[in-house]
Amino acid sequence: MKFKADKIFTGENFIGNSVLITDERGIIQEIVPEADAGDGVQQYKGILSPGFVNCHCHLELSFLKGLIPEGTGLVDFVINVMTRRSFPMDEIETAIAKGEQEMIENGIVAVADICNDASTLNQKLRNNLRYLNFIEVSGFIPPSAEKRFEQGQQILNRFIQSGLDASVIVPHAPYSTSTELMKLINAEAAGKVLSMHNQETLQEETFFTTGISEFRKLFDFFKMDISFYQPPGVNSLYATLPHLNMPKNILLVHNTFTGPEDIFLAHQHSEDYAQDLFFCTCINANLYIEDTTPPLELLRKNNCTIVLGTDSLASNHSLSIWDEIKSIHQHFPNIELEEILTWSTANGAKALLMDKELGFFEKGMQPGVIVLPDWDGDQKIKRLV
Ligand SMILES: [Zn+2]
Repeated sequence: MKFKADKIFTGENFIGNSVLITDERGIIQEIVPEADAGDGVQQYKGILSPGFVNCHCHLELSFLKGLIPEGTGLVDFVINVMTRRSFPMDEIETAIAKGEQEMIENGIVAVADICNDASTLNQKLRNNLRYLNFIEVSGFIPPSAEKRFEQGQQILNRFIQSGLDASVIVPHAPYSTSTELMKLINAEAAGKVLSMHNQETLQEETFFTTGISEFRKLFDFFKMDISFYQPPGVNSLYATLPHLNMPKNILLVHNTFTGPEDIFLAHQHSEDYAQDLFFCTCINANLYIEDTTPPLELLRKNNCTIVLGTDSLASNHSLSIWDEIKSIHQHFPNIELEEILTWSTANGAKALLMDKELGFFEKGMQPGVIVLPDWDGDQKIKRLV
């Protein structure tokens, strides 16, 4: 098959006057100058791109679409999500199937999906989309660490026994995971990809630096006695990252309140332990929950590798990387589309260790071929293969 559009984005940069050639399954053969392409070229308006990689989603929360109020801040958001989890399974599964379909229509080819249970398992067995499943655990009370970890292992085993690609057990966030639990997770994550929500709200920082934080309301709400807790007096990332030295890749998700000193520490850590760190931003979720935007300029200035995620339909109006890109463009108009597309294709594939197959138009890869419309228009993405 031969495809041509106004421009081709290769996963790293734009090229013009060229034709992309794939076999009938979409495996990339080559990109040739237009003059050498011969007959049978399908022509499109817009930009040809590899399919998008969604580096952060909670597909299991799709049933919460439109149910969680906007702008409440993270603490009330978490309480709202936790207290609305009892829905009939058929409604949950229908919403999961719809959420997946939405991602496919929006040009997404791979998803790093957070799982607190196995409700997405049946849908994922249909093999419509490529998933890396992160089994998420939390537990702030230290003596509960082993039990929480075992519960995570039981879910992980269900995924693995079903033949699904379940990476590893991951911590929810520094404020919800004890050091003891973090250490169990770290030991099992050797050489794998790990993901963790990071610095999504200012309250996370004050909980670690001074102990004065709205997060106490969260623990009170769930009737948890945290009188044992002594704030370490440093930012949450400083307190947590030293316990995560075994994974090959770490995805830090959100980073809305990450500062220069956190980035310095993160770079130092990744150098010391030969890890690759990825800063995953979910701008539409940040706008939904906290009415804020991630510090993209700071991350770029400090050479952080950025990837994009949609988060869930509990905190977003759509599961669309293209919608994330359009929001980034609206709030950061000086960042070039070429750079943002790299975050959402090549960088995403590297983060999930899928860059041998996805993220690039390179010979032998099967990254999906999509057509991006004009980025301030309303036209939809087209999936070609
Ligand atoms: Zn999330």
